[in-house]
Amino acid sequence: MKNMQPTKVPMREAEPKVRAKNFGEVALGYTEEEAILEARRCLNCKNRPCIEGCPVSVRIPEFIERITEGDFAAAYRIIRATNALPAVCGRVCPQERQCESRCVRGIKGEAVAIGRLERFVADWAREKGIEPDAPVVCEGEKKRVAVVGSGPSGLSCAGELAARGYAVTVFEAFHTSGGVLVYGIPEFRLPKSIVAAEIESLARAGVEFRTNAVIGRLFTVDDLLDSGFSAVFIGSGAGLPRFMSIPGEDLCGVYSANEYLTRINLMGAYKSDAKTPIRRGKRIAVVGGGNVAMDAARCALRMGAEEVSVIYRRSMDEMPARREEIHHAIEEGVVFRTLCNPTAILGDDGYNVRAIRCIEMELGEPDASGRRAPIEKAGSEFELDVDLVIIAVGTSPNPLIKSTTPGLESDRRGCIVTREDGVTTTKEGVWAGGDAVTGAATVILAMGAGRRAAEKIDESIRGLH
Ligand code: FAD
Ligand code: SF4
Ligand code: SF4
Repeated sequence: MKNMQPTKVPMREAEPKVRAKNFGEVALGYTEEEAILEARRCLNCKNRPCIEGCPVSVRIPEFIERITEGDFAAAYRIIRATNALPAVCGRVCPQERQCESRCVRGIKGEAVAIGRLERFVADWAREKGIEPDAPVVCEGEKKRVAVVGSGPSGLSCAGELAARGYAVTVFEAFHTSGGVLVYGIPEFRLPKSIVAAEIESLARAGVEFRTNAVIGRLFTVDDLLDSGFSAVFIGSGAGLPRFMSIPGEDLCGVYSANEYLTRINLMGAYKSDAKTPIRRGKRIAVVGGGNVAMDAARCALRMGAEEVSVIYRRSMDEMPARREEIHHAIEEGVVFRTLCNPTAILGDDGYNVRAIRCIEMELGEPDASGRRAPIEKAGSEFELDVDLVIIAVGTSPNPLIKSTTPGLESDRRGCIVTREDGVTTTKEGVWAGGDAVTGAATVILAMGAGRRAAEKIDESIRGLH
């Protein structure tokens, strides 16, 4: 029987006042009964518009139908056929802009909670030790493919290639695999044990992981091609932080969000026995309005700050962060100072941050991005007392691969140039995808590119193109 309730079955969440002081997961997931009830909201539409909204084409109505039947293992196998990281996507995909934005139930109410259902199935399968369908077994010697970077694009490419019978080696610069999933997105949104379990599942499917391996230093891309890899996929992300070029950015107590989050997430600075040094400010300003700024602000609260302000130059309506993240940040007590922009960071005699100077803004006509352009209000400067500033105004690809790979073109932003398919580079035998090509984007777009590149690599090696 269908469930015609116009709203999603709510998901339980940890109490805002309690969770703002620890790194435990905020969203607690569905029970079996809740998942079945929500799955019954799906109309199993014949033209399946939701699938078009998913960059890895998860067969959404099929897996949801298996949930209504209580066959969660079958649901898992359907999802894993196209998505290497379902427990991750179920948690961090911007579903409201992807699959759920196309759901017909969204026309007269809320879309089916596709992401929550995907998370439920993936968590259930992990707890029960269910494996995806076995990869293709090749006759004769397997062709080798190298993947540079173990973020979502690299993992998705590696998973798809392994499923097609290739011997895949992932080279990762850090000591732990996962890319932004482990060094950027905090534990309270995406527990690291879940990322590790998804990576272990890929390792069991035959993918080899080599950590502490910086391509461009240890080996170049050409070394990889010369040493017997038939193809190289570059999924090295966009981990180089941008700054604002205002006075005071070199003071003690100014972090890029990348550094701040890496110290906390990858290096575990929040744990009581951590050896990683980190400044714990009392009054903290986070500059920016994206997911990265929300994560930094919510981490700062959990690290013991008394007041955390997000400083953003447009209004709440233009903020690029997911609505859910903004809502969670507000619930936890983050202060939003919108329509203002920093002009300088001020220091004390010891060269430590003591304040941030900002100017008020108003919105003018839409700019090239389609959003209304912020314009300074003359004479409206003010100072905010803070002892730590975290800058989250964007990132670019790291130039190392580009500078060590002749023939690999990149544009003026440092992003790798590709053909129309979005993954074939200007260098023979080399494909690329994810943030390294698009600039900072999303997990699922990176995964979609990784999967598309795997198809192209497979076609190329089999001589189809
Ligand atoms: P990355 O995840 O950046 O992985 C690249 C990997 O390559 C890294 O592990 C890096 O160490 C490695 N590498 C780099 N250079 C080399 C080299 N020379 N040799 C070997 N390895 C190398 N997206 C969402 O969809 N939802 C969210 O909620 C969300 N929140 C985010 C929060 C934060 C704090 C950040 C920073 C990003 C967030 N994003 C979110 C964006 C998303 O995480 C990225 O778009 C996605 O991770 C890009 O995947 P990728 O594989 O291209 O690169
Ligand atoms: Fe939706 Fe992301 Fe799952 Fe695709 S992977 S169905 S976009 S939640
Ligand atoms: Fe189900 Fe919505 Fe997809 Fe229709 S569009 S099949 S209701 S998830």
